[in-house]
Amino acid sequence: MNVRILGDPVLREISQPILEITDEIRELAKRMLVVMKETDGVGLAGPQVGISKRIFVVCADDGIDRVFINPQIIETSVETCGYEEGCLSIPGYYEQVERPKYVTIQALNEKGRRVTMETQGLLARVVQHENDHLEGTMFIDRIDSKKKEKIEAKFLNKTSSKGA
Ligand SMILES: [Zn+2]
Repeated sequence: MNVRILGDPVLREISQPILEITDEIRELAKRMLVVMKETDGVGLAGPQVGISKRIFVVCADDGIDRVFINPQIIETSVETCGYEEGCLSIPGYYEQVERPKYVTIQALNEKGRRVTMETQGLLARVVQHENDHLEGTMFIDRIDSKKKEKIEAKFLNKTSSKGA
């Protein structure tokens, strides 16, 4: 299981809902948590490991491992805040991204139980960032378009020059 980098088409796909929470899905969540920790991430979404399914894992400032399956952000605050975001799929780049300060998210956990969570701080930030991945959206889509183009060019050039 390796982390996919910007330029990999799987990162731009819309992920499919998970129909049944099987042992296979639980194993996937476990492996994703391992990869996330090995790479010093605070969140990791299915597409980032090449799996186009609606699942992400998070371990934010409270140190609790959380698994979100078929998540839905059901409420967002009007109040927004900026934060310097990075992404395991865009290594080495960090930019200020403006997002709602608080969000309420509903999802199934790895036991298949429906959970509703009101989030704030880093957790609110990470669940929004990871939820975006399931829609094929990356944080660079939420920054100034010139900055985005510069970052994209770096990664796309790298990919295309491999054969040269
Ligand atoms: Zn990311």
